[in-house]
Amino acid sequence: MESDTWYQCDRCTACCKWPGDVRVEDDEIGKIADFLGMDEDTFIQQFTRLRMNRNGLSLIERENHECIMLENDRCIIQEVKPFQCKGFPNRWNFPDWQKVCQAKPVPMQQAIDLGLVDDGDVSADHVIRGRDLT
Ligand code: SF4
Ligand code: SF4
Repeated sequence: MESDTWYQCDRCTACCKWPGDVRVEDDEIGKIADFLGMDEDTFIQQFTRLRMNRNGLSLIERENHECIMLENDRCIIQEVKPFQCKGFPNRWNFPDWQKVCQAKPVPMQQAIDLGLVDDGDVSADHVIRGRDLT
């Protein structure tokens, strides 16, 4: 990852269709539940499952591997989506990620000037995590 480059998502939704976990952290549950107008317990029951390693919650994955929050190729919780989603590919990625992601490179200063760079919520335990590609 080049620190002088920002990769701007073009909302192709490929990363919403990969098999595996979409991790939801404890401190993200309340925000998403509020956004959906429901209490946390209802949100957890309707939209989450245990992660494959059983170490926390993931959004439910449909049979075709799409995330349950994807409707008509649009994320219905875009404004409050989990860090795993917000952070890719600039905060975390994996080898050859550009083969499966259409994010466009923008010079970092230009990206900052355009207000594209979201530098919030980058705590240490959020740095490397991702949707499994297996
Ligand atoms: S991060 Fe990449 S794969 Fe995901 S929606 Fe944006 S362009 Fe597509
Ligand atoms: S929460 Fe939204 S951005 Fe994240 S995988 Fe699901 S549909 Fe995609």
